Amino acid sequence: MKANLNDVINEDRIYSLMQSGASEGSVNEILNKSLCLKGLSMQEAAVLLNVEDDKTLSKLFKAAKEVKEKIYGKRIVLFSPLYISNYCTNNCLYCGFRMANKDIKRRKLSVEEVVEEAKAIINMGHKRILLVAGEDMEKINLDYVEEIIKKIYEIKRGNDEVRRVNINIAPLSVKDFKRLKTFNIGTFQSFQETYHRETYKKMHPSGLKANYEYRLETMDRAFQAGLDDVGVGVLYGLTDYRFEVLAMLSHAEYLDKTYGTGPHTVSIPRLEPAKGSEVAEHPPHAVHDKDFKKIVAVLRLALPYTGIILTTREREEFRPEVLELGVSQMSAGSKTNPGGYHEEKSTEQFRIGDHRSLDDVIKELSETDYLPSFCTSCYRLGRVGKDFMDLAKPGLIQKFCQPNAILTFKEYLDDYASEQTKQAGIKCIKNHLSEIKDEKLKQNITQKLERINTGERDIYI
Ligand code: SAM
Ligand code: SF4
Repeated sequence: MKANLNDVINEDRIYSLMQSGASEGSVNEILNKSLCLKGLSMQEAAVLLNVEDDKTLSKLFKAAKEVKEKIYGKRIVLFSPLYISNYCTNNCLYCGFRMANKDIKRRKLSVEEVVEEAKAIINMGHKRILLVAGEDMEKINLDYVEEIIKKIYEIKRGNDEVRRVNINIAPLSVKDFKRLKTFNIGTFQSFQETYHRETYKKMHPSGLKANYEYRLETMDRAFQAGLDDVGVGVLYGLTDYRFEVLAMLSHAEYLDKTYGTGPHTVSIPRLEPAKGSEVAEHPPHAVHDKDFKKIVAVLRLALPYTGIILTTREREEFRPEVLELGVSQMSAGSKTNPGGYHEEKSTEQFRIGDHRSLDDVIKELSETDYLPSFCTSCYRLGRVGKDFMDLAKPGLIQKFCQPNAILTFKEYLDDYASEQTKQAGIKCIKNHLSEIKDEKLKQNITQKLERINTGERDIYI
């Protein structure tokens, strides 16, 4: 079915919703409703996006934190991006990889180089990789993608391997998505960047990405091809963030209604300086920290079961503030230039704000009572797409996520952590284990932890 795109992103309706007043009474009512974990209507989200005063904002943040902990507990899933190429035939004005940027050294990794990068990522302790590439379908064709994914999954480092490869490459046709599905990928991500047509046109002057409609229909094609998990996103800073959040919610609602499941994840990149980009240096609608926190909180309440992904674009000291409002996955130890993990040759896509190692990030998470997770079990057991959402909705996800987080975290601590991180991590596991009320489950986890102690790996529920 081809969607009427004007209905999916109805700008007049969004502008009219953006006028919704945020009286104390209406905000309280919406926040109370959000605690039932049923999500929010666009109208309700619009009211919350207009909250400005600190007192009401802190109520919003409190509700977001509560919803997050009810559904996800304290677990944070970790991953690392692997940039395979910075060739691009598009000209997104905000991006250092854009075709017209002559100041960067172009590079596409050979299959062997991709394997080296993946090994370096595995050596940090990661189990999930997000493959990222500029959009140049000749350079990054499906034969190449198939081969590198196969080679990545084949890597064995002692007990270790990559257990999930997610992917953020150019949008494909239905036929090509069908082929991509056979490569055993996790989530397919592609961001609309801005849902605002006029801004979109300005920011994407040439190349395939200049076509707003083709970009917007990416997830339709992906679902029609049978992909289970898709990830959407907005690049915040290009236009009014309230417009973007509402439009993205409208897109998510449309996907849910049409295909029986909405996006598996939402990404929230914020525009960062990029070499040779005026727009990135001076974002036309810069989103400040306070508003960024509001965006995360509203997304968490509106889409309680959708993963929210935070990247190393955000500053080290700011990341904890956003984590507690609803983030469920984050990258750590990232490089955004092809080859960046095992050598330094090419230019980064944008400036990163958190340069810490995975070990340092894990230590901080453990000390602040989060539970780092390297779990990939849902996808490997076929708990994906609608099945995942059906499972997540009654709250069952905690029965899997929490135990699997503990088990995979223990593997990490035994195999990769520094001594200090290990101490903090063991304490963290103890605390989280003691909070599990179901005695049978607790016993099951304790037995599995014993098996990990004796060297067994990849144990999950
Ligand atoms: N080339 C593909 C595309 O554009 O969808 C995928 C990879 S692109 C390297 C991944 C994302 O990086 C883009 O979707 C965009 O949101 C983000 N990005 C581009 N320039 C950025 C910048 N200056 N600051 C932060 N994020 C940026
Ligand atoms: Fe190319 Fe993606 Fe950068 Fe646009 S955002 S220039 S498509 S790499």
